[in-house]
Amino acid sequence: MSSPRRPSSQPSRGGRAPWSPRGERGRLPPVSRALGSFQLGHQDNIPSCTPVQRALMLLTPSLEKLQAVKCRMLEAMDKGLSRQTHAQATVRMLPTFVCSTPDGTEKGDFMVVELCQSHVRTLFVTLLGDGNQSPQLMYKIFDMPADMLQGTGEALFDFIAQCVHKFLEEIGSLQHRLPLGFVFPFSCRQTGLGKAELISWSKGFQCSDVEGKDVVQLLQAAINKLELYHVQVIALLNDTVGTMMASSWGGKPCEIALVTGTGTNSCFMAEAELVEVVEESNGRMCVNSEWGCFGDDGALGDVLTPYDHRVDQESSNPGERRFEKMVGGLYLGEIVRHAVLMLAAEQALFVGASTSVLGAKDAFKTQQVLEIMDNETGMAKARSALEALGLQPSERDCCRVQQICRAVVSRAAALSATGLAAVLSLMCRSRELERLVVNVGVDGELYRAHARFGEILQSVAGLLAPECTATLVPSADTNGLGVAMVTAVAQRLLTQRHEVEQLLAPLRLSRADLERVQALMRQEMERGLGRDSNANASVRMLPTYVCNTPDGTERGDFLALDLGGTNFRVLVVRVMQEGIHMASEIYVVPTSVMQGTGEALFDHIIECIMDFQTKQNLMEQVLPLGFTFSFPCQQLGLDKAVLLTWTKGFSASGCVGQDVVQLLRDAAQRKQHVALKVVAVVNDTVGTMMACGYDDPKCEIGLIVGTGTNACYMEERKNVGTVEGDEGRMCINMEWGAFGDNGCLDDIFTTFDRMVDEKTINAGKQRFEKLISGMYLGEIVRHILLAMVDKQLLFRGKPSLKLQTRDIFQTKFLSTIETDGLALQQVQGILRDLELDASFEDSMLVREVCQTVSLRAAQLCAAGLAAVVEKMRENRGLAQLAITVGVDGTLYKMHPHFSQNLQQMLQDLAPNCAVTFLQSEDGSGKGAALVAAVACRETSP
Ligand code: ADP
Ligand code: MG
Repeated sequence: MSSPRRPSSQPSRGGRAPWSPRGERGRLPPVSRALGSFQLGHQDNIPSCTPVQRALMLLTPSLEKLQAVKCRMLEAMDKGLSRQTHAQATVRMLPTFVCSTPDGTEKGDFMVVELCQSHVRTLFVTLLGDGNQSPQLMYKIFDMPADMLQGTGEALFDFIAQCVHKFLEEIGSLQHRLPLGFVFPFSCRQTGLGKAELISWSKGFQCSDVEGKDVVQLLQAAINKLELYHVQVIALLNDTVGTMMASSWGGKPCEIALVTGTGTNSCFMAEAELVEVVEESNGRMCVNSEWGCFGDDGALGDVLTPYDHRVDQESSNPGERRFEKMVGGLYLGEIVRHAVLMLAAEQALFVGASTSVLGAKDAFKTQQVLEIMDNETGMAKARSALEALGLQPSERDCCRVQQICRAVVSRAAALSATGLAAVLSLMCRSRELERLVVNVGVDGELYRAHARFGEILQSVAGLLAPECTATLVPSADTNGLGVAMVTAVAQRLLTQRHEVEQLLAPLRLSRADLERVQALMRQEMERGLGRDSNANASVRMLPTYVCNTPDGTERGDFLALDLGGTNFRVLVVRVMQEGIHMASEIYVVPTSVMQGTGEALFDHIIECIMDFQTKQNLMEQVLPLGFTFSFPCQQLGLDKAVLLTWTKGFSASGCVGQDVVQLLRDAAQRKQHVALKVVAVVNDTVGTMMACGYDDPKCEIGLIVGTGTNACYMEERKNVGTVEGDEGRMCINMEWGAFGDNGCLDDIFTTFDRMVDEKTINAGKQRFEKLISGMYLGEIVRHILLAMVDKQLLFRGKPSLKLQTRDIFQTKFLSTIETDGLALQQVQGILRDLELDASFEDSMLVREVCQTVSLRAAQLCAAGLAAVVEKMRENRGLAQLAITVGVDGTLYKMHPHFSQNLQQMLQDLAPNCAVTFLQSEDGSGKGAALVAAVACRETSP
């Protein structure tokens, strides 16, 4: 916050001189003489001075004291927010359930009805969705019979409903649905925007049968009695919230509002998790501070003056609303009166005259106090006001009364600023910002009456909360427009929520959906295993010729190759009693080689192996080699695998349809590398299972959730119709990514999935994979976001060019965006990189989309796994199966919720299986070696 220009004295932070009163001899301290900055006093060491000087100093708390008050205000606010202490807190921090500020897209007709002290005000607003440029409004005030305040609740609400009725008749009856916001300025226990129980009446109201009841329902019932069924009460509000909303004009959302009128109050947008009394930790909610009661527990002790004590004592509620009694306009005249009265008693004013007329309550009106402050006409006003009371003031008396008035109003402004500084610091702290930049809607008589009030507010808040930059925005709310805005926002959010739900509904799978996916997977597995049905199955269930998992007795040194992952690697793996040791080297496969001839590719591989063996001093040895080859293969033996098709950017000629082991051996021969003994070709799922199986003998399933998704598991050999032999088990590479390619999952696919699929190089293929794996989740999210922009649900309907770019929304963004406790600021950062100007609500919605897509992926994966574990349990005739899944893949490992969602759903779908998940470390390298080791264990007993 910038301090205002000070022509006469430069403020120097920390120094006392610039704002402490300079008690120049024979002159009064220059308290707010000109339009300079507020002078903060040092009343702690009051020098010998005149009674008037002393009074002025008492009314001018020092910066240190204001700082201390701010700290106590913060403590009181924390107390109000905390679940345990909320009930006893002086600053109650009431949740309002207003969670969004206007964004300018609000549109339609809205009505507001406001219950005031002596009247009911009705307002009709039409918003055009044009950025709130030109709201059209009509309003009317209905006087309320005085006896209504003490009558029955039914009579009161009937009267309000009649006002609504008459008003609507006058403006021409409307038949379409009309959302109504109800301004009800009493203390309520609110549990929703449209749900609020009156705690207790105040301000002279005492209608029967209302306390403890939901006043929204009471009003709706009264409206329904008049058959105005199209009028729907959707929000109940406090006037402070209206100020915040009304100030949020023209693209400058206000997140704080400050009202200093007859009373004082504030509200601000708090992080939802801060508002402990509401069970919602996402997003923000407007909190109504009700700070007028601050100090009722003594927290204002050292800034209270004898005048404040007298004002309090003479009020109808002594001891209550102490802060309000120092700040609110209702009390300023009284403070001035008591100050003047006490000074007169000390013979410092009106010497020799009787001042008994000043003993009468409300002899000074706040309006007069404000007029007397004026630079030009103030002195004359002071004289006429005092003369009207029958006093004969001297020039000096008038001058001193003016100074008292200015001190009282300045103090009110400084204390408001102190409260504002507390709110600012609270927001800055809870949003974990180094610097908070925020707009503050300000309203109320005091603020409007005097420019000085705003200046002091600005400069003192700046001194007390230097980490914040607050811009004061005068509220445009002269007739309840702000409340109409809240109603409009509430309506917009209700409609948007409905549309968001509709859009996301197809992506939210029910338990029944998942059970069906599980059953279909089981069915496809059976078909894939059957000798005759295999050709038509979408899940190919490829035999791997891996018939045993490690038993821990494997020993020896092995070579391993890993081709088809992100890198090509060569490894040496030493399997020893103490454990497994590995050394590896990453080699580049140039694109020209990936897409050249098969011979060149396999020659390159052999060269890399030879280089590696040289470096590792292994040229003399003949080590068994396991080859992790992560492309779809029809395996005919452990060391015989026919490449079905290249993927992942490989297209080397002359390889498809060939045995890749033979291609490797041929290359070795060409390169005269005779000491090569390839014993196994391994799919990465199998490698993962084997690597984990070495640590956990119960690991009989392998799962990959990375760029793609796939699984393998140990099947009874007698069930594998595509391979001869009935004894023991064989690992089956399911190739489950292709599940659904025969159309069996069509009703699970959404339009978004179809759009993603259409743009892939293998449209119509790998349908299950396209719902689950890293290569696609970001794209699905991107398509949903585009649809939401199209429906004006996101980014105010404005997409960025970048968002229309394929693959721009990476799957790793989902991980970041969904991270718990991540400040939404960071989400906004990601979106900003995509040139998207995301509001807070936009970020929340993007997060929800990501959560929906990743949850569906995890649940579908769970349904697939459930089919696998249940089949294994049945195969083995067990009531309960305890089994471990070895898992690899960056999506599984890095996403903050994927693994938990997967495990939870699996537990739910397969309750008779106790499934443990073990993350593999380097499954491709270690796994390939272990397949080789197990094979060697079998052949050389
Ligand atoms: P591969 O499956 O090719 O062996 P990975 O298992 O490393 O490779 O998976 C890579 C995929 O993981 C990428 O395609 C990307 O979509 C996804 N991914 C990368 N980083 C993250 C992350 N932080 N969170 C979720 N997914 C990620
Ligand atoms: Mg991998």
